[in-house]
Amino acid sequence: MRVLVTCLMLAAFQLASAPSHAQRAGEQARADRFVLLHAGTLLAVPGEAPAGNSTVIVRNDRIVRVAAGFLTPQQAGITEGADVRVIDLSGHFVMPGLMDAHVHLRGEPSFSRGRAVRGQRDPATSAEMAFNAVLFARRNLAAGFTTLRDVGSDDEAVFAVRDAINAGRMIGPRILVSGPAIAVTGGHGDGAPMDRTGDPATRLANGLCDGPHECRRAVRYLYKLGADLIKFTSTGGFGSNTGLDPQLFPDEIEAIVQTAQMLGMKATTHAYSAVSIKDAVRAGVDSIEHGFLLDDEAIALMRQSGTFLVPTLSASYPPPLFRVPEPESVRIRAENRAFERAYEAGVRIAFGTDAGTFRHGDNAKEFELMVEFGMAPMDALRSATVETAALFGIADEVGTLAPGKLADVIALRGDPLENISVLRQVDFVMKSGVIAKQGGQMTEPFDYPPVSPGRLTELFPLTSAR
Ligand SMILES: [Zn+2]
Repeated sequence: MRVLVTCLMLAAFQLASAPSHAQRAGEQARADRFVLLHAGTLLAVPGEAPAGNSTVIVRNDRIVRVAAGFLTPQQAGITEGADVRVIDLSGHFVMPGLMDAHVHLRGEPSFSRGRAVRGQRDPATSAEMAFNAVLFARRNLAAGFTTLRDVGSDDEAVFAVRDAINAGRMIGPRILVSGPAIAVTGGHGDGAPMDRTGDPATRLANGLCDGPHECRRAVRYLYKLGADLIKFTSTGGFGSNTGLDPQLFPDEIEAIVQTAQMLGMKATTHAYSAVSIKDAVRAGVDSIEHGFLLDDEAIALMRQSGTFLVPTLSASYPPPLFRVPEPESVRIRAENRAFERAYEAGVRIAFGTDAGTFRHGDNAKEFELMVEFGMAPMDALRSATVETAALFGIADEVGTLAPGKLADVIALRGDPLENISVLRQVDFVMKSGVIAKQGGQMTEPFDYPPVSPGRLTELFPLTSAR
């Protein structure tokens, strides 16, 4: 172990003394910014044992070194006069930023309830969805989620928010966007108006396809639009009241998965029925969303091929979207115990919640459900870091705290390995080396109190503040 640490430190020193990108390019180099994080407990690699007092040395957006003890800037080899901040997290549990593989940034239940005023339109307009995505992306970041996968948001609103964050125009999590989920006519995810179901432009904009030929075109269209991944709906779903049975033929599934992967994109499918899950796994899909009706054969296939399960337990407990006393989603999930059986069998689990069907920012309740249903707390942490990074294809950039990786770091006031609920209160968030939250407060506040009652609110009553 000590030899390994020494090797890592040597590698880090070489990295620190190597010329930066800007210098190599012969451009005028901007002065480096350094941050030293003094971590009381450091879980650098979820799955491995945490360390005691440690220092994470960050230069600009990346980690250059992880060292034992609390290093001063001088001990860290940082030249005097350099731009350096030392952050005291000596009373904290420090770990990599969390990732959620299944969110919908376009909305959440409070939004639908709060707009039952005149002129209500359903679905929301692009402008409303873009505004929601700005607010909800930041709320996810405040909850410690530094990377999100938006799997189905109807139009281009979330692309715009992703691009604004990437361009540094606003603070927010890294977002991988699928655009509209691909669905067949009349299937789960078909949002096209009835009178335009046959219109080619409407079909493309809504991710609609029937037959392998049209499904290839749908994937290529989303690629052109700027999608990072492809999401398709193989079966019906609770939200659309279309049942849970197969809706796509194997040749349609193959066409979608193969075209996505040819273009360098991951493919994931919303699927309940075991038949569709198996069709998708055989076609080489990267992950199964929900998967509530997994059977033993599907579990064995997924294990064999390394297909990830994204459990989305939170979407069912409690289910604000459906607002009925005993929803089918809870009964079916509890009866079949797909998550529990898949975990026991060794299927790879990638953390994903379906935030948007419930309040954004409450994503951490998924950890509690995972542990309640039998997952070891360390495995739950790993599912939201190492495993999600592997599923997203960005494991060389994020997922652990190691030299060369992007500095996505969170800090908690308690130990989640002893009490998983401490993940509900994230005290500190750094994304790509920028401190977004410190001492429990966002560095750039965004959550304002609602307007006090008065003439304006009487004219436009708000039934829900958030
Ligand atoms: Zn969903």
